[in-house]
Amino acid sequence: MTCFPVPGFHYTDGALHAEGVALSAIAAAVGTPTYVYTTEGLTAAWRAYADAFAGQDVTICYALKANSNLAVIRTLAQLGAGGDVVSVGEMRRALAAGIPADKIVFSGVGKTRDELVAALKAGIHQINVESLPELEVLSAVAVELGVDAPIAIRINPDVDAETHGKIATGRKEDKFGIDFAHAGEAYARAMALPGINPVGIAVHIGSQLLKTTPFRKAFGKLAELVRDLKAHGVPLSRIDLGGGLGVPYKPEDQAPDYPAYAKAIAETVGGLGCHVTLEPGRSLVAAAGLLLTRTIFVKEGLHRRFLIVDAAMNDLVRPAMYEAWHTVIPVAQPAADAVLADADIVGPVCETGDTFARLRPMPPVAPGDLLAFLTAGAYGAAMSSTYNSRPLVAEVLVSGAKFEVVRRRPSFEDSLTLEQMPDWLSP
Ligand SMILES: *Cc1c(COP(=O)(O)O)cnc(C)c1O
Repeated sequence: MTCFPVPGFHYTDGALHAEGVALSAIAAAVGTPTYVYTTEGLTAAWRAYADAFAGQDVTICYALKANSNLAVIRTLAQLGAGGDVVSVGEMRRALAAGIPADKIVFSGVGKTRDELVAALKAGIHQINVESLPELEVLSAVAVELGVDAPIAIRINPDVDAETHGKIATGRKEDKFGIDFAHAGEAYARAMALPGINPVGIAVHIGSQLLKTTPFRKAFGKLAELVRDLKAHGVPLSRIDLGGGLGVPYKPEDQAPDYPAYAKAIAETVGGLGCHVTLEPGRSLVAAAGLLLTRTIFVKEGLHRRFLIVDAAMNDLVRPAMYEAWHTVIPVAQPAADAVLADADIVGPVCETGDTFARLRPMPPVAPGDLLAFLTAGAYGAAMSSTYNSRPLVAEVLVSGAKFEVVRRRPSFEDSLTLEQMPDWLSP
């Protein structure tokens, strides 16, 4: 899988389409900037997992934080996905989208007491505990509610995922999980506490991994630990291996090898007699989405050509936050012999960081032309904001020849409804 073409997006008759729908038709109906997701892309990403793990007893819990749109979640739920959530808001979204409680895993370093109460009341499958203080609070809450909390303890395996520093989560200096060396004590405490049922163990080493080597390292260390814990009487029956499989963003990126990933899992934890859960986020949704934007101005600077587009860092923050690359293509297919010239592609927000691409070879682009930022289905809309008082970006889902708005663009009036004047400022 390279970044283009991918299942769901293709040029037909010189125009970029999402399945059977011309992107220009979506722009005309919904305006820009707008995220466009395809059912075909989501399904293809799901199949990649389903095919690689055929024959292995594996549950796939989609990590909602990558894209928490209800229609996207429901599409994946209907294919068979459970949910990995990191807040009570995500838990409620998972339930609202139709994921049954017994397929929901709750992760995260800072769950509040109220969130733990809500999770236990909902009767979710598992709570992944990341610290001893969390374990104590969860025990108290469970006792109060008169239930047993099925938990896994998230272990920090001290493995470098060899990805961007901001999305590596499995090194010993990262804030996630309980240190490998303290796992024994943590399980002893979990076994002793009332209301805690330590059924599982979890790891998640980071995001956007294109190689399987770090996974193999982490899962191997985990397998050793599981054997050790079992020998000490911890009744582990579940292993949660987290998410993190990457996607190609640049044309030269090597797509991860799903069969090799499945093999690494089978060969490390396969023989432990534990049920395996995976929590992929990005790899299920990234390639299924693009961000559709319109060129406002083309500015010829002294040293640069700037394409100023109507999408900005508030709509897609990945380039500003992680120096991320998105392939940008025109919606009108460029001529085969189009001359490429370098351009900086920037948004209207008053920050230099609001730059999507620098010195990017681009075919001729004129004001009014539509462009598409590819591989934007993950950590795009989910991280969007209203910075610069820009309305929250709209989202559209396509299925075959149909499309629908699945998150509407708020009106200016909508955007003011949460605010009010204090008495002393009212006229
Ligand atoms: C973010 C996250 C995931 C998903 O990561 P991806 O890189 O999007 O696959 C899975 N599990 C946990 C605990 C996470 O925090």
